Amino acid sequence: MHNATDPGFRESVDLMFQRAVGLMDLSPGLAHKIRVCNSTYTVRFGVRLRGKIETFTGYRSVHSEHMEPVKGGIRYSLDVNQDEVEALAALMTYKCALVEAPFGGSKGGLCIDPRAWEEHELEQITRRFAYELIKRDLIHPAQNVPAPDMGTGEREMAWIADQYARMHTTDINARACVTGKPPHAGGIVGRVEATGRGVQYALREFFRHPEDVARARLSGGLEGKRVVVQGLGNVGYHAAKFLSQEDGCRITGIIEHDGALVSDAGLDVDDVKEWIRANRGVRGYPRATHVENGATVLEADCDILLPAAMEGVINQGNAERIRAPLILEAANGPTTFGADEILRRRGTLIIPDMFANAGGVTVSYFEWVKNLSHIRFGRMQRRAEEARSRLLVEELERLSADKGLGWTIAENFKERFLQGDDELTLVRSGLDDTMRTAYQSMREVWNSRPEVGDLRTAAYIVSVDRIAKSYRSKGL
Ligand code: GLU
Repeated sequence: MHNATDPGFRESVDLMFQRAVGLMDLSPGLAHKIRVCNSTYTVRFGVRLRGKIETFTGYRSVHSEHMEPVKGGIRYSLDVNQDEVEALAALMTYKCALVEAPFGGSKGGLCIDPRAWEEHELEQITRRFAYELIKRDLIHPAQNVPAPDMGTGEREMAWIADQYARMHTTDINARACVTGKPPHAGGIVGRVEATGRGVQYALREFFRHPEDVARARLSGGLEGKRVVVQGLGNVGYHAAKFLSQEDGCRITGIIEHDGALVSDAGLDVDDVKEWIRANRGVRGYPRATHVENGATVLEADCDILLPAAMEGVINQGNAERIRAPLILEAANGPTTFGADEILRRRGTLIIPDMFANAGGVTVSYFEWVKNLSHIRFGRMQRRAEEARSRLLVEELERLSADKGLGWTIAENFKERFLQGDDELTLVRSGLDDTMRTAYQSMREVWNSRPEVGDLRTAAYIVSVDRIAKSYRSKGL
């Protein structure tokens, strides 16, 4: 997707890293160690399918092992290549440090068009790829824990977990070898929506700081803000759904692979998603205007632009024409280094990927902890909390009756107050807290150091500083 004049994806990430390191007091040797990718394993394997042998190429790249296990998704796409996997692995390192998920960074990819294969064929391919990685400890609960990414989801993660269990029959922590599994196979509720939910929490936190909002030439809260979403995959769909259904945003544009839909009145995200499911694209959708060249809608007049699919969609070829004053990077690497420089100069505010899309890995962290502790969150305390709350309510009612005060506690309050927290509530609470804390650490650097012109550089500074500390304590 990068424009011809743009640097490649990995170089783009490196340049952003270097821009931040230039403002830090870090020895060049340590900076170099943090920046480089530790290793990339390439595997080519054959699977007998439809009567002939098909050869697939896959990668698992480990960017930094300052903390283990290393973490990061596995992507299925025909665009997967070593440069991309390494750039994504580096972003995982920085992302995990920023949100204090205790992992190093990794990423995997398989060069495949997942839509070209039947489910049972995909299972065969996934199991074979997983086998290759498992036997080299590139999937391992204590060393390397993959998760979903573009083109993969709960189903693939369940196959990977099962493949690992078959190869490590006595490993009591086998389920922690991968996250993003379906809840019935050791997953955690709220993982599928997590990245989109994280986007929502990120924006809510941003809008809690009117000074920051003013720097984006915006005012007020999320209510009524016009949002353009690029990509209605897992991340884009959940983000757009929550922002429109819970925060009053208006989704005025949705960009997909076969064009874009625009509507000033706002699009119904679930309705569009349903249409895409049935028709494999947005073309023909009756309740909005279809724009053939979808990319032009990235340049539409709106308040918030949410790139939620591929890297490099905002590049030197279109950055000058982007009109949104605020961009939230729900995808990894949607803005190239060149575009970033242009947008900085033009005063466009960017909420960077390493923060904005960290909801996925944050909930992955919760899932991994759940797997290692072998118990669902809330299982021990939920009813105890309920009993304690009931005690309080009953005492209030007794006091009111004794003193003839005539207080009545509203039924719906009672019901909500008495309810102990279930796993989903706890997951969302942990995610919300993580996003708020990470935003605050980033904005503190952004607002206190005038030479740090943007949130991305601030995010790198916070994150690289933490990684450097961890390397130093290892004696480097
Ligand atoms: N693939 C997701 C990401 O880019 C999630 C990674 C994870 O949960 O480990 O952050």
